[in-house]
Amino acid sequence: MYELNDKIKNLVPYEPISGTYAIRLDANECPENLPDDIRAEFAERLGNIAFNRYPDPMATRLVDSFSEYYAVKPELVTAGNGSDELIFLIEAAFMQKGDKMLVVSPDFSMYNFYSSICEVSCRTFYKNEALDIDVDALIETVNRDNIDLLMFSNPCNPTGRGITRADAEKLVRSVNALVILDEAYMDFWTESLLDKIEDYSNLIIFRTASKLVGAAALRLGFAVANPAISRALKAVKSPYNVNSVSQAFGEVVYRHKDYLQKRQKTIVNHTKILYNGLVEWARTRQDVTVYSTVANFVFMKTGCSRDIWDYLKQQSIVVRLMGDCLRVTAGTEQEVAAVLGALRTYGENRV
Ligand SMILES: *Cc1c(COP(=O)(O)O)cnc(C)c1O
Repeated sequence: MYELNDKIKNLVPYEPISGTYAIRLDANECPENLPDDIRAEFAERLGNIAFNRYPDPMATRLVDSFSEYYAVKPELVTAGNGSDELIFLIEAAFMQKGDKMLVVSPDFSMYNFYSSICEVSCRTFYKNEALDIDVDALIETVNRDNIDLLMFSNPCNPTGRGITRADAEKLVRSVNALVILDEAYMDFWTESLLDKIEDYSNLIIFRTASKLVGAAALRLGFAVANPAISRALKAVKSPYNVNSVSQAFGEVVYRHKDYLQKRQKTIVNHTKILYNGLVEWARTRQDVTVYSTVANFVFMKTGCSRDIWDYLKQQSIVVRLMGDCLRVTAGTEQEVAAVLGALRTYGENRV
C-alpha cells in the first residue's frame, strides 16, 4: 500500500475564495481587463502561433520586450510561469536539504509554503509594531543564524509597506545569503533595485505581469539577476515553462508603455482615494488601524475583521481576510466608492 510522505500528506490544494461576487478586491489584481486594442493585437498574434511546436525555452521575444520596458539587459532576465514557479524553483534548486531560509512576517505566504516541500528549514523574522522591517536587526539575524536564503516582498504583500532602495542595498551588501527581493508591487512605487542588479553577486529581483500589467491570466513572472545566477536559473528551470500563447501576449503587452504608465497613475490615484477613505472611516471607530501603503492595496487591523469581511461579502464585495487584518485592493473608482460606502453602513446596521 502506497503512503504519501510526511511533508505532503497534510497539504490541501490552494483554494481562492469561491462564489461569484460583484466586486473582487481580494487578490490585488488589476481591476480592469486589458483594453480592446491590446486584445485585438493578441487575437492577431494568436493566429500566427505554431501550436504544433514547443515554445521558445528562453522566451526570447518576451524577455526582450520586458527588458526594454524596464531598461534591463535581456541576458539578466529569466521568464517563469508566474513568480510562483520562480519561488519554488529557487527554493528547490538553490537550496540543499537542510539549508536555512529566512522569511519576514507578515509577508507573502508562498515563500514559507514551498520551504517544507523543498526540505529547507525556514525561520521567521518578525516586523515591528508599525509592520516595518528593522533592517539592521534583519541583517544581524541573517548573519548570526548563517541564513542561506532570504526572501521577502518589497513593497510588502500584505502590509503595503516598503523599505527604501538605500535600505535594500544596505541589506544585500551586508549579508552573504542569497537575497530574493520580490518587487511584485514596485510598479506602484519608486524604490526598485533593478538598475543595480549587476552590482550584486547575491541578489535576485522578481517582477510579475499579474499586478500593474493586468495579465494575471497569462502567468508571467520574471527573475532578474547577474549573469552567473541567470545562467543557473535558465539551466535548472523546466525548458518549456512559459507557453507560447503567454510568451506572445506578454511580448505585446510590455510594448504598450504609454498605456501601462497611464494605468499606473490611475491605480496609484485610486489607492490614495481608498486609503484616505479608510482613514476617515477608521476615525469614527475604535479598534481599527489603517496602515499607509505604497502598493495597490490597503492593509488594516481590526478586532472586527471577520465580522466586517462577512458584512461586505453579503453585499457582494470580497476583500482578503487574514486573521485580525483585512487587505483591500484598490479597484476601479466605482469599486472603491462601493467598499467605502458599504463600510460606512457597517456600524449603523450593527447597533
Ligand atoms: C501577486 C504576487 C506575486 C505574483 O505572483 P505570480 O505568480 O507572478 O502571479 C508575487 N509576489 C507577491 C508578493 C505577490 O503578492
